[in-house]
Amino acid sequence: MIKDSSNLIKYTDKGLYCELADTWIDPHKPVNRALITHAHMDHFTFGCNEYISTYETAMILKERIGSEINIKTCEYGKEFKINGINISFHPSGHILGSSQIKFKFAEERWLITGDFKRQKDETCKEFEKVKTDYLISESTFGLPIFKWEETQKTAFDISKWINSAPNKTSLLFCYSLGKAQRLLNELSKTNFKNNIFTHTTIYKMNKCYKKLGIDICDTNKFDKTQDIDEFKGGLVLLPPTLYKRSFLKKFKEIQTGFASGWMSIRALRKRSGYDKGFAISDHADWEDILKTITESEAKNVFFIMEIVKL
Ligand SMILES: [Zn+2]
Repeated sequence: MIKDSSNLIKYTDKGLYCELADTWIDPHKPVNRALITHAHMDHFTFGCNEYISTYETAMILKERIGSEINIKTCEYGKEFKINGINISFHPSGHILGSSQIKFKFAEERWLITGDFKRQKDETCKEFEKVKTDYLISESTFGLPIFKWEETQKTAFDISKWINSAPNKTSLLFCYSLGKAQRLLNELSKTNFKNNIFTHTTIYKMNKCYKKLGIDICDTNKFDKTQDIDEFKGGLVLLPPTLYKRSFLKKFKEIQTGFASGWMSIRALRKRSGYDKGFAISDHADWEDILKTITESEAKNVFFIMEIVKL
């Protein structure tokens, strides 16, 4: 994508790189200094000498991978310099602590959106509109077929789905960091009163969010050795990696669902094997990508292509 070596930011086999600052952004391989947009593991690589992120991202990363990483933190909107290049982090609205990263040198501005969304989400700071000359944007859902419904409508649909099967256990699969906390926050606004159980990875992230001041409703820790009758009529939130695992066989009466933007495509919904798909995403849809490009006033726009993971 970005081939001209004179550009401030370029794409290399290790990821996005600012040569003048000798700094990488979410590198794929170990490097000396890495700026990290957010704490999803596909944006983090072990083995870098130094990391820089927001405080929230640093706290979440430490919770996930251990506190021994060398990570410096910076405040949203506060410029700092590396080798004379001005750098600042700005909220991207994707998950707690997520950032767009802006580079400024002489009169030239570059903005890397990282993963971002424009929908309202009370579990993280709202996306900040940042003006730039060059925009490097994610485009996970960069097709006109992607158009998200109101988050509250999806939360009501989930609540209705669970309440329509009081004799079953509803297993809802979603990403442990960001999506799970957003769903819990939205569900708590729908008057959903059933028991909620969360897998350890989600439970741990909920605790971390609460520690960072985000209001997440209390849930029970999911224990697979528990009497299965205790889960009846309730909601169990699990990470997608556990789908089709053998321990799920002990549940006699279940219904399964998957909460992901990909569930807006009927063919993917069918192929996924889940009983129900809820189209909710922490990425911008087509209209919001276009809106973001327009609002940035960028003269040049580059897209990062993501690999579809279900
Ligand atoms: Zn992400």
